[in-house]
Amino acid sequence: CGIVGYIGNENTKEVLLNGLEKLEYRGYDSAGIATLNENGVDVFKVKGRIAALREKVDSNTHATMGIGHTRWATHGAPSEENAHPHQSISKKFTIVHNGVIENYVSLRNEYLTDIELASETDTEVIVQLIEKLYHNSNDVAAAFRQTIALLKGSYAIALLDADNPDTIFVAKNKSPLLVGLGEHFNVVASDSMATLKVTDQYLEIHDNEIVIVKRENVELQKLDGTVVKRDPFTAEIDA
Ligand code: GLU
Repeated sequence: CGIVGYIGNENTKEVLLNGLEKLEYRGYDSAGIATLNENGVDVFKVKGRIAALREKVDSNTHATMGIGHTRWATHGAPSEENAHPHQSISKKFTIVHNGVIENYVSLRNEYLTDIELASETDTEVIVQLIEKLYHNSNDVAAAFRQTIALLKGSYAIALLDADNPDTIFVAKNKSPLLVGLGEHFNVVASDSMATLKVTDQYLEIHDNEIVIVKRENVELQKLDGTVVKRDPFTAEIDA
């Protein structure tokens, strides 16, 4: 299973699909991407192979950022509904997640009893919770940090906000996730192998941090909002 994200001006869909193909060897049962263009977020997902996802993706509209996912189902059967990306009720937020949220039932019972969930996944609880907490502050980064602080388990997460076309929000705990740095673009990947084609410069993310990835810059924050500085490393190009 794996995650890829891209923000820049190149062919977003191709970077995402190519990245997911590079992660296919890890195994998966379904796949999907979400891309953002001037009309909003488009979600494409399939149960089955990336080749089937490729067929489904509308390659005519240009997208400037997006996130992609291969799923290895842990909560909810392999199906199109349970495939990622998942969206919040208003569709403001779109998420991909690898890992397992151990306390998703208690989070759902505590915060989300008034919402009908669209999937059986632990993942959907994260994105619905972000939207819930967002309404308290109207601050997406704060809602994301607060949500991350409530999660127990393992996760690599990439999040899109439909009203914020210049940012991908990411976080991880125990599951792998890296930010790749480019000129006028940046990427996110669970393994640098997915995106070595576009950059060999990567930034490690630590547990209990969030990263605000924009086209021209990347900001690491602790869960209390303080900014963290870290130097990138060069990933080995595998022949
Ligand atoms: N627990 C999530 C699900 O079942 C993510 C699984 C994965 O890591 O692909 O949808």
